[in-house]
Amino acid sequence: MSQKRDYYEVLGVSKNADESEIKKAYRKLALKYHPDKNPDNAEAEEKFKEAAEAYEVLSNAEKKAQYDRFGHAGMGGQGGFGGGMNMDDIFSQFGDIFGSAFGGGGGSFGGSRGGSRTVKGTNLRVKMKLTLEEIATGVKKKIKVNKLVNADGVTYKNCSTCNGTGRITRVAQTFLGAMQTQSACHVCQGAGKMIDKKPSDADAQGLRRQEDVIEIDIPAGVDEGIQLSFQGKGNAGPFNGVAGDLIVQIEESEHPELRRDGDNIHYDAVINFADAVLGDTIEVPTISGKAKIKVDPGTQSGKVLRLRGKGIPSLQGYSTGDQFVHINIYTPTKLSKEERELIEKLKSSENFIPGADEKSKGFFKRMRDMFS
Ligand SMILES: [Zn+2]
Repeated sequence: MSQKRDYYEVLGVSKNADESEIKKAYRKLALKYHPDKNPDNAEAEEKFKEAAEAYEVLSNAEKKAQYDRFGHAGMGGQGGFGGGMNMDDIFSQFGDIFGSAFGGGGGSFGGSRGGSRTVKGTNLRVKMKLTLEEIATGVKKKIKVNKLVNADGVTYKNCSTCNGTGRITRVAQTFLGAMQTQSACHVCQGAGKMIDKKPSDADAQGLRRQEDVIEIDIPAGVDEGIQLSFQGKGNAGPFNGVAGDLIVQIEESEHPELRRDGDNIHYDAVINFADAVLGDTIEVPTISGKAKIKVDPGTQSGKVLRLRGKGIPSLQGYSTGDQFVHINIYTPTKLSKEERELIEKLKSSENFIPGADEKSKGFFKRMRDMFS
């Protein structure tokens, strides 16, 4: 598979382009590469599709935000929009871009494309709660859904409204002059078919509901709120069409000990005062189990130690975050008589005065010099 071009680059707009600039840029490209203007030109058709796909994402605030954050990888676990738009999807976008002259709702542009189209099923939406551990490694999940499937025993005949062509043709005045336009048949949604016979449990489109278990692969590095789309795993398409998509919205459950910040993980370690003074190796929880980390002698409270690569892999797979261990020193709240005597003894000891070490002495001295 070739590398996908950046959507902003495809449309030739900057990342800060607003809605109207994006629309304008797409409109220009759509007119330039339109199949009616470039008959039998595969390159123009590719460009036409590429622009439509870029527009599909950048014109939708939710998809755009996801793309800005995660790039092409954020556009779905299994290829996302890559090749997911067929010509019908593209032409049905046109009502929005070019106005009603091109037939609102599934309208098409130009007369060169005849024939019925495949009707796409609706999308199924589910929410999925994942633990931080599952997010870190990626996970296979089985989910139970109640979805529309093709009922057995349904037979079809040609749609009587469009005579099986799926299209209704008319001539309209447009900004390109008089054009013969076609729009999808409103009765069969462009499929060119209608139900001939169906079993009693099938609906008017030949579908019925059925419980199904779908297995999906969640990639590592997903984030709360992200939506993954799995092509063809949604509801079956009416009239034997193609299935819609399964849209999975990710929710992240809170970890009892670890905090996530983007691809990094934070952990608050509380250590013994004596260990902070003498140095020690401590064990800390990580998303993959436990890790040992060295605390140097003389470690101050608030020191942050790093466990490289112990964070979350980025969704694009380019890098992995780190785990940061924040050192907190535990102060005893109860003391025995003996402990109290020891602490009292240490209290006025020379090395227990803040800033006693050489480096800090230098710092305190500089501070004094600054203000004297
Ligand atoms: Zn029809």
